[in-house]
Amino acid sequence: MKVVVDRVKCTGLGICESLAPDVFEVGDDGDLVLLADLVSGSGIEAVEQAVAGCPTEALRLTE
Ligand code: SF4
Repeated sequence: MKVVVDRVKCTGLGICESLAPDVFEVGDDGDLVLLADLVSGSGIEAVEQAVAGCPTEALRLTE
C-alpha cells in the first residue's frame, strides 16, 4: 500500500514518527520525510496506527 501525505495539513508534530519510525521522520526543519512510501506485510499495522493517530488527518493509505 502507498502512504500519501497532505503537506498542507501536516504540522510536523511527529506522532507518526513515534508510531512508525521506519516510515516517517520529521527533519530538523519540521518537514516530514517519508523514508518509504510503499508499505507491506508487518509494516502496515504501524502505518495504519500512524494514519489513525495523526491529529491533523494528514495521512492516507491507498492501494
Ligand atoms: S502525525 Fe500528522 S501532522 Fe504530525 S508529522 Fe505526522 S503526518 Fe504530520
